[in-house]
Amino acid sequence: CLAVAGTARTVLLASPRSFCAGVERAVEVVEQALEQRGSPIYVRKQIVHNTHVVADLEARGAVFVDELEAVPEGATVVFSAHGVSPQVHRQADERGLRVIDATCPLVTKVHTEARRFAARGDTVVLIGHDGHEEVEGTLGEAPERTVLISTPEEAAALEVENPERVSYLTQTTLAVDETAEVVDALRARFPALRGPASDDICYATTNRQDALSAIAEEADLVLVVGSDNSSNSQRLVELAVRRGTAAHLIDDTRDLRPEWLAGVRTIGLTAGASAPPGLVEAVIRVLGGLGPVTVHEHEITRETVHFSLPPAVRTS
Ligand code: SF4
Repeated sequence: CLAVAGTARTVLLASPRSFCAGVERAVEVVEQALEQRGSPIYVRKQIVHNTHVVADLEARGAVFVDELEAVPEGATVVFSAHGVSPQVHRQADERGLRVIDATCPLVTKVHTEARRFAARGDTVVLIGHDGHEEVEGTLGEAPERTVLISTPEEAAALEVENPERVSYLTQTTLAVDETAEVVDALRARFPALRGPASDDICYATTNRQDALSAIAEEADLVLVVGSDNSSNSQRLVELAVRRGTAAHLIDDTRDLRPEWLAGVRTIGLTAGASAPPGLVEAVIRVLGGLGPVTVHEHEITRETVHFSLPPAVRTS
């Protein structure tokens, strides 16, 4: 289309974007397991929610399974970055599996809080999305004491055993502003509400949202690189839309639609925490093929977080 091709455009590149420390660690766990123990290495669920990461590791000998029943006795299985419930750990023990746990340490922190809050007799209100793997794992820590909610309305209508003893936790990849509304509604209903010492929404989720917030309104269109089932990527799309800018989630350049670019001069570009950085560079190359592109990177903070590998695959 002539209106699309040849137009000079500016790409506002949000920073930080793309891989977080928890995703880098989880991918490296599988890579090291393959190198040290050879193929096949079984992985329960997608190691991180990205089709490219999964396909790449599959090509190198990782076997992704939905449930532990599919893993042969005695084999090595990696638990994904999203964490698992204690019941899954027990099941792995019963089957004699060799477990390497790639759960992000920031998810493990939420599990620890769930156990602590439940042990002191509180009803634990988990704010998160029903059906997400991270939520399933966290719920499993104290299933009889935990309730899952996702909206201020659900918070306002919540009935608990003892309104004086209520704590909340959150999924790590929620929208910061929306979650604050849910917590406010909970506090209005239960003034004695207690919460985690520091926010459960992780640094990477917060930084990616803040980075996109800084550029979203200036852009005519926002592109978020990430897979459909990536919670933090979905939240980035929603954030742009709430700021009044059209936004699309794309797994890679094949999802780009030239018609989105009609009349667009400024494109905001970011990627969810599970999307490899190379995919963003590929998007810029494709945009460059449709007309001259000037890239401005807008960095709001520099991330220095790094998590060491679990002992089972540590090399030094
Ligand atoms: Fe960990 Fe946050 Fe990355 Fe999830 S998004 S893996 S909680 S650092």
